[in-house]
Order: sequence, then structure tokens, then C-alpha cells
Amino acid sequence: MRIEEDLKLGFSDVLFRPKRSTLNSRSQVELGREFVFKHSARRWAGVPIIAANMDTVATFAMARALARHQILTAVHKHYSVAEWQAFVQAQTADVLQHVIVSSGTSDKDFEKLQQILALSDELGFICIDVANGYSEHFTSFVSKARRQWPGHTIIAGNVVTGEMVEELILSGADIVKVGIGPGSVCTTRVKTGVGYPQLSAIIECADAAHGLGGQIIGDGGCTCPGDVSKAFGGGADFVMLGGMLAAHEECGGELVERDGKTFMKFYGMSSASAMDKHAGGVARYRAAEGKTVELAYRGPVEDTIQDILGGVRSTCTYVGAQRLKELTKRTTFIRVREQENNVYGKE
Ligand code: 5GP
Repeated sequence: MRIEEDLKLGFSDVLFRPKRSTLNSRSQVELGREFVFKHSARRWAGVPIIAANMDTVATFAMARALARHQILTAVHKHYSVAEWQAFVQAQTADVLQHVIVSSGTSDKDFEKLQQILALSDELGFICIDVANGYSEHFTSFVSKARRQWPGHTIIAGNVVTGEMVEELILSGADIVKVGIGPGSVCTTRVKTGVGYPQLSAIIECADAAHGLGGQIIGDGGCTCPGDVSKAFGGGADFVMLGGMLAAHEECGGELVERDGKTFMKFYGMSSASAMDKHAGGVARYRAAEGKTVELAYRGPVEDTIQDILGGVRSTCTYVGAQRLKELTKRTTFIRVREQENNVYGKE
């Protein structure tokens, strides 16, 4: 047994230190970024926020709404090929360029991925997603996908440590998804005791990925626009959001009326709700590692997006970053024991 003594940080352990700047207004801040990915050599330009591949969030309707802001959606893996076909036919290239096709790692997943990607050359992103990215099977699946699709941008995850980020990039991933346990409907830390505070995971994994010309996604744990900024400030190239985008009209989740109020169901992809829906129940050998919650219904996602983008722009003005790309260089985090003042309740 070994203990690592240095303290790892989550978003709630830090705040940005403001810096003098010449920026006068948030409107001067550019949130768009442009990447040319290491293996695929594809160029992508847009706002590097991604709707998480959860069936209660990353729907086709969400992809259409977010594409208007050049934001990506990792469409969940439970649509049929026929549904994909209908979606792809009805979209402009502009929408499809902001769509990511999610997959698991079984032979069936591989076959389905082949059929979906064959529908359009504009579908340039693949997200190979497992709860635990540390298995050899996962790395070999990533290599197999890289051989099959040399010109597609491959996202692989989830992991939280630099050596595994390097291994996945060397196996063919362009972008590594980082986060184990921070998610809003995740119970991995309770069920297994495994995890890594998300800000430290981002800082350490970004360093490893950038050293090899790869990128990372900070996935999970953002509860407010300030957390999204902290993820970017820590070095995340992309930030993935589940809960912050849940319970909107575009999510298409089940609506529940109670005491005259409307709620929408939101659940983790390893929750009993998800396994009942997609896998015929929780298998006997495993425990559910996700929960189900009911959130106040929030209407169209547009206002939430404005709120998030406005918050990140404002962070950039506080630290003098004219472009999102510069935010991490302009970031000094101070370690704190307080966040917002909750005397009148939470925002
Ligand atoms: P959030 O933005 O809601 O904090 O986190 C979203 C992320 O939580 C997802 O992108 C995914 O990585 C993770 N996640 C989603 N469902 C589950 C689940 O059932 N269990 C666990 N452990 N993580 C989940």
C-alpha cells in the first residue's frame, strides 16, 4: 500500500485570481477555438463545449440547438441506424460537423459505428466511451478504430492520469476524455471508492496530452459556468457537460408533474434506470454506478447556453484573456475554503 501525500483539487477548492487587463468588455472575448487533430489531421473550429453522451441530454434535438452556437454534441449511442439515417439526411453540413458519434467497445458497437459513419463524410468525430478506460481491451479497441478510420477524430475515455492519457494517444486517440467520479449523477466514488478530484485530473492530463500533440476533454463535475471556466483555466481543451444541460426541452426526458410544478428525469448512464431501459436490467455481477434525479424543467436550452458562454467570457475579461485559448496561460488559481455566499440560498 502507498499513499500519495500531495492534495488533489476539485473545482470548489479554487478561485481565479483577477489580473489587470486591457479588455473593456466581454463582447471582445473570442470563445471559438480551432484545432487540427494529431492523428486524423482534421481541422475543426467552434466553441469547445460538448453535450455529454447521455440519453437524457445528447439527443438529435440537442445537437441541432447547440450547433447554432458551434457547440458539439456527443450524441448518445442508443439511437438506431435507421434513426441516424433520418437525422443525417435532414441536416446541413454545419450541424453534422458539430456531431460526435458515441460508441461502446463490443463487436456489435463496432459494426453499428461502421454503419453510422458510412452515412456521411461530415460525421468526423467518434467517441469511444467506457466508464473505466484502464483496461487492455479498451486500448486495443481504440487501436482497431484508428486502423479502420485513419481520417476520423477519435475521442477515448475515461481516464484521470497522465500515463494512461499517453497510452491512449499513442494507441490512436486524438482527444482523451478525463474524469472518473465527478459527475452529477455518478456514484462511482460511493460504490467503489475510486476517483480523482477533477481539476487536478484536468491539469495533470492536459500536460500529458499536450506533450504528445493531443487534446483532452474535462468530463463531468461542472455545476456552474464558473466551473466550466476553471476546467478551461486548468488546461482542458474541451469541456463536457451533462447535468448543466439536462432537463431542457431538447433533452426529451420523461416529464413529471408534482405540486403544480414540472420536473424532468435525469439519470446516469450506469444507473439502474439506464440499464433497465437499454440492457434489460442491472446484471447480477455489477452494482449500478449512477443515480436518477428529477430536475425542475428548464425550457429551451438557449438561455442556459447564453448563461454559460456569458460566464466564461466574463472570466476571460477578469484575467485579461482576449481569446479562450489564452485563458489557461492567464490563469492563476488561488486555493480557497469558500465559494459563493449562500446566505439567501443557492444561485
Ligand atoms: P456532469 O456534467 O453531469 O457532472 O457529468 C457528466 C458525465 O458524468 C458524463 O459525461 C459521464 O462521464 C459521467 N456519467 C454519466 N452517467 C454516469 C453514471 O451512471 N455513472 C458514472 N460513474 N458516471 C456517469
